[in-house]
Amino acid sequence: MSKVAAPNKYAYLFEEIDAVKNHCDGDWEAVRGLLGGKGANLFDATSLGIPVPPGFTVTTQGCNDYLSGKEKFPTGLWDQVLDSIAALEKLTGKRFGDADNPLLVSCRSGAKFSMPGMMDTILNIGMNDETAAKLAKLTSQPRFAYDLYRRLVQMFGTVVMGVPDDVFEALITAQRRESRVLVDTDLDAKAWKAVTRRFKEITLTYTGREFPTDPFEQLKQATEAVFKSWYGKRANDYRNAAGIAHDLGTAVSIQTMVFGNIGDDSATGVFMSRNATTGAPALEGDYLINAQGEDVVSGTRKTLPIRQLASDMPKMYKELKQISQRLEKHHRNMQDMEFTIEQGKLWLLQTRDGKRTAQAEVRIAVDMVDEGLITIKEAVSRVQPDQVDFFLHPQLDPNALKNVKPIAKGLNVSPGAAVGIIAFEPGLAERWAKEEGKNVILVRPETRPDDVHGMLAANGVVTSKGGRTSHAALVARQFGKPAVVGVSEIEIDLDNHLMQIGGDLIIKEGEPLSIDGNTGLIYRTELPTQIPDFNDPYLLKILSWADDIRVLDVRANSDYPEDARLARQYGARGIGLCRTEHMFFEEDRLPIIQKMIIANSLAERNEAMIRLMPMQRSDFEGLFRAMDGYPVIIRLLDPPLHEFLPSAQDLMMELTDLKLRIQHLAGLKELDQTLEEIKEKTALLQRVEVLQESNPMLGTRGVRLGITMPGLYKMQVQAIFEAACRCAADGVDVRPEVMIPLVSHEAEFNLMREELEDKARRVMEEQGAEIPYLIGTMIEIPRAALTAGDIAKTAEFFSFGTNDLTQTTFGISRDDAETGFLVDYLQSGLIKENPFTSIDADGVGRLMEIAIKQGRATRKDLEIGVCGEHGGDPQSIHLCHKLGVDYVSCSPFRIPIARLAAAHAAMGIEDN
Ligand code: PEP
Ligand code: MG
Repeated sequence: MSKVAAPNKYAYLFEEIDAVKNHCDGDWEAVRGLLGGKGANLFDATSLGIPVPPGFTVTTQGCNDYLSGKEKFPTGLWDQVLDSIAALEKLTGKRFGDADNPLLVSCRSGAKFSMPGMMDTILNIGMNDETAAKLAKLTSQPRFAYDLYRRLVQMFGTVVMGVPDDVFEALITAQRRESRVLVDTDLDAKAWKAVTRRFKEITLTYTGREFPTDPFEQLKQATEAVFKSWYGKRANDYRNAAGIAHDLGTAVSIQTMVFGNIGDDSATGVFMSRNATTGAPALEGDYLINAQGEDVVSGTRKTLPIRQLASDMPKMYKELKQISQRLEKHHRNMQDMEFTIEQGKLWLLQTRDGKRTAQAEVRIAVDMVDEGLITIKEAVSRVQPDQVDFFLHPQLDPNALKNVKPIAKGLNVSPGAAVGIIAFEPGLAERWAKEEGKNVILVRPETRPDDVHGMLAANGVVTSKGGRTSHAALVARQFGKPAVVGVSEIEIDLDNHLMQIGGDLIIKEGEPLSIDGNTGLIYRTELPTQIPDFNDPYLLKILSWADDIRVLDVRANSDYPEDARLARQYGARGIGLCRTEHMFFEEDRLPIIQKMIIANSLAERNEAMIRLMPMQRSDFEGLFRAMDGYPVIIRLLDPPLHEFLPSAQDLMMELTDLKLRIQHLAGLKELDQTLEEIKEKTALLQRVEVLQESNPMLGTRGVRLGITMPGLYKMQVQAIFEAACRCAADGVDVRPEVMIPLVSHEAEFNLMREELEDKARRVMEEQGAEIPYLIGTMIEIPRAALTAGDIAKTAEFFSFGTNDLTQTTFGISRDDAETGFLVDYLQSGLIKENPFTSIDADGVGRLMEIAIKQGRATRKDLEIGVCGEHGGDPQSIHLCHKLGVDYVSCSPFRIPIARLAAAHAAMGIEDN
């Protein structure tokens, strides 16, 4: 006889946490995967003895089996739901489908990772005509009973049966007009009864199907609808944006309803255990007396701040605070909770780790260390490198703010400033931003999950309704979008694409707006923005902890003293790359460089160099002083010389113009001048033509320049050492490191090293100083990496120029690839990462590994760094740590990110 396998267990009661843990071998991540984050936390809270309305969860496995099984319940699932309902009946003493003593339930989605509002929820399942009538009598609150019923029909109609919600809302508005009331809460039982009847008619008209009156049928269809919402468009979009895997599925939690809308001793609310914007340790949230949950989050009624509950219902507030503290302690994280007070009894409906701004993340991590809740390492690991970016985000320029008046004020829910033109429709916001490259501010009455694509495309978000926990606020915070919500002075007219403020100010779509997510103020103009001061004490603490943990050092790519000072402020310990050519591009220097390049004689060239030298010297002095006590790597001139000269085409056009001008000149003096100009330009053109190369990036640049233009590098070395001697004389601890770019053969390096060392020694002798220094090379050509052992015989340091090394390893142009075929490669998924963003570990990384191994075999104390753009990329920083690089060097604005990423790498934590 064949044995039939027992069906999978798909449904667990909230109290069955031990059975779930057993099933998952005690792995909490697996428990969350199975029950969804929300479900797992309800099980957890139940086991802590916190008052959670009884319920059960259908697992994500149930969802996945349903979706992969042609949308049919897998064997055993429905029977287990029925058994669980029976268990709830026992626990509550009520009966599902019994109009005399009805058990009503909610059906909520909940994936492993929170996706606020992205999937569906249906409340009050179990209501029908008969139950509504009896409940009205039983509670002596007919309004309450019929309001519950219409909510079920409305939610079921939209979520399960697909009727547009606007149709239902329009009907409610019409009923309000007929009943002559302003707000929904003033509609009476009779009105709700009539609305519900019409809702059902609408549903039938729209779908051809009746609203199911059988509670079990309601539950079945609701469960299926939640399963299906996993693949809904908005959930898909959200997962793509948040990097959540598409195959996780959602769990469904079915929970006994409790009611916050059963009178003035009832309430409902959402709150966070700490301030989600600043991280300050105080309860923060909103609630409403005599209301159901979605009234609070939808922004349709004006909510009360949670602290007011302390005076409205002091006992409840105290209990809420205690629950919040217990849950925080248990989860060792800030909690985002939902509660209902039903006739003086407090119920916790949901708890999860709260979404918060970067600023709050940082403060909470530090505070929790002080409170003994988490360790320093945990605190450092909680802050993501990209969150640090916020602190370097643009803010509105305070000087510009002095001269403008805000037009409105709302809630400051997501910090940072955003400037752009107004779009009222998410689709338009997306189109303007993505296709036309415009800066856009999305302005909406409130946002819904369907609007997320527009929010993501916009620079900032404004809503006229909603509170700190509204959908707009949550999503904006999560994605680091500056946002101001609940700007009640704004009246938006979507039909006419305009908004009105205070009655007479009308602003149209496409007009400019600036918003300040820190203050909640809005300005009717495009204001300049600036990077904030880097002085948040909590961030400084996290970064100083990160510094204690990391092994990799962090230096800056800085070309000017001012950059170097900023880099120090951001925590750089030295300069990893000063691109001296950037100093050459200064307006007053360019003509001298050009003279040097087109010189016909050595004497002429030397004269130009003699003029350049003091300029370079003062630049270097500034760098050394800013980096007192830290190494400063100065790279000798790298780019092809034609970059300093005008293009041949421009010159030819200018010459043609000059020749034409001769015909119209008035006097001889002018003629002489013009002829002289023509002579100069012709000489320049000839030189430009000589210097022209088909492949300049692979041409006469880097060390090749140093070799073919004798005197150039020597002049730079003279400037470096004279500057160093001057600084040393003033007591500055100078540590110059001279770097030769684009070396591919040891012979190139040896030749240069000999010449330059000779120059350095002579300068020091002249100045009577002894400066410790290093001479090293960039490794940015595969041949250099492969022969690094030979190069290290004379090179005292290596710095990987990963920009060029990527270009030369792939054989692709760093100037063109990223706007050409690489875009297609990335879009089609042919390659996963842009190698100019994150180091290609298998190719470029392999070359680095070889170079490091060989280099250190030759010279044990060889200093090795990375100075390409990858130096500020967390993923590349992890690779550098693994390869044993000594430091990464990046732009000043990436330094704090690099410090944190380096600490994460040392702790073996992946950065997302
Ligand atoms: C590099 O190639 O990675 C580098 C830092 O040099 P540049 O970008 O100036 O060529
Ligand atoms: Mg380079």
